[in-house]
Formats: sequence, C-alpha cells, structure tokens
Amino acid sequence: MIISISSGKGGTGKTTIGTNLALSLEGVQYVDCDVEEPNGHIFLKPQIEERISVGIPVPQVDKSKCTYCGECAKVCEFNAIVVVKEQVLFFPELCHACGGCSYICPEDAIEEVEREIGVIERGKAGGIEFVHGILNVGEPMAPPLIRTEKKFIDNGKTVIIDSSPGTSCPVVEAVKGSDFCLLVTEPTPFGLNDLRLAVEMVRKLNIPLGVLVNCCDIGDKEVWQYCEYESIPVLMEIPHDRGIAEAYSKGIPLVEEIPEYRSRFQDLYNQIEKRLQEESG
Ligand code: SF4
Ligand code: SF4
Repeated sequence: MIISISSGKGGTGKTTIGTNLALSLEGVQYVDCDVEEPNGHIFLKPQIEERISVGIPVPQVDKSKCTYCGECAKVCEFNAIVVVKEQVLFFPELCHACGGCSYICPEDAIEEVEREIGVIERGKAGGIEFVHGILNVGEPMAPPLIRTEKKFIDNGKTVIIDSSPGTSCPVVEAVKGSDFCLLVTEPTPFGLNDLRLAVEMVRKLNIPLGVLVNCCDIGDKEVWQYCEYESIPVLMEIPHDRGIAEAYSKGIPLVEEIPEYRSRFQDLYNQIEKRLQEESG
C-alpha cells in the first residue's frame, strides 16, 4: 500500500507525521519526495548506501552542421532555444527535455546530452528502507527527479511518500499513483483555505483521502465542519504540546520522545487500511 502524506500549506507537521508513521510500522519504505527541502532524514537518520545522479536530456547544437534555419526555436513551447542571426541560444533552466528540437532539426545538428538536476540517495534507517531526492539548488525541474525517485518504490512494502506542501506540479507528481493520501492541516483560517485546495487536487487525482489535524486545540472548529460537510474522515488529532515541539526542535521523533504515540500511529494506519478494504468492497 502506498500512502502519501501531503498538506496544502507548509509547516503543518507533514514530515513529523510521515516519519513517525514509518517508525511505528513494520516493513516500511519511506520515500521523501519533498525534493526541494527533504528533511525526513533529520528524524530517521538513515545510513546512506547509494547515491544516484539524476539528469534530463537537453539539446547540444553542433555548429558545424547548423544552418540557423530556426526550426528548433519554432517547435520549442518553452522558449528554451532561440535562434538569433548566426547563433543558437539555449536556456537550460527553461528546457523541459521534450526532445522536440532534436526531432525536428533538418540537419541532424542537435544531440541530446545529460544535464544533472539532482541526486537520489538510498539507504536504511533501522528496519525502514529510506529513499530521498535532493534537487540541485536553483533547479526548477522537480517532477523528473520525483518520477525517477518513485521508480525505486518497493510494492512489497508499506510505502510512505512525503510530498512537498501545496498543490503545484511536484506535489501532483509525488501524490499521484498512491492508494491513499493523508492531508495534514491545522485548525486555522490559513490551514482551512489551503486544505480546501489540497482536497480539490487529491480528488482530481481520484485518490481516497483523510485528514490529520495537527495542533488540534488551537484555532477554531471550521476544519472539522468542512470535513463533515465534505464527508472527509478526520483520522487523527494531535494537540499543541510543548514536549512535541521540543522533540521536533532537537530532531527527535515523536514516537521516541512520547512512546504512546506509536500505537496512535498504528491505529491511524489500521484506519486507512480498513477504509481502503471497505472501498474495494
Ligand atoms: S533546427 Fe537544427 S539546423 Fe536549424 S537552427 Fe536549430 S539546430 Fe540549427
Ligand atoms: S528539448 Fe524541448 S523544451 Fe528543451 S529546448 Fe528542445 S524543444 Fe525546447
């Protein structure tokens, strides 16, 4: 089973939930797809065993063959390649590696070369199989890195995917294909606003979802009212607690600091499993 953990807004405790859920279960693979800011490793402290460079194919023009006809620039939807007089200009950060320019070039003057966008690291954190992607600084192409990272998913395990917050392309890439999406929110007007957007995204992907309310004793009751109205199950509530905040600030997993939470996370998993069994009939 693949469970993705996501949130409409940052700072709701998504990584805390993902890592502690992983630490509470057996036979787990934790895949951190928050490639711009992967921080699950801070809590899980994995031993990294393998490092894989990930690149995308980008064009390289052979000037000796190029006639500056401009066909490559015409086909590029992203303005990543421009022909100006006797020069072909290439803007790598705009290139989506679609291959259109090399396909269209009448002189066969474009060859594709690999441009590194980030790395994937794999290892073990106790009994947990650990995978995370790290996007190069300033690199906008997160989705190809996430796609490559998800090829390492082990379907024989319970897989927990930690996505980045929001509803943009990297989040969609991380969440799609999961069996269940757990949305972490806070009971504030900001939390509710961003939860609505996240629910819309997950529903468009046709993935069953549930909500975890973090810092459940602050703010107002509108998140619960919204979930009831939308028939979204609230599967777990975690209070605002100084002990939890202190453990977080030291990079100590919640289930190590307050062991009672282990059974609460197991119960969360059981609820998700039961719901999926009921849905599949
Ligand atoms: S399509 Fe090929 S030949 Fe034409 S400008 Fe581009 S690289 Fe040069
Ligand atoms: S590979 Fe696609 S996106 Fe990149 S420069 Fe060529 S046409 Fe543009």
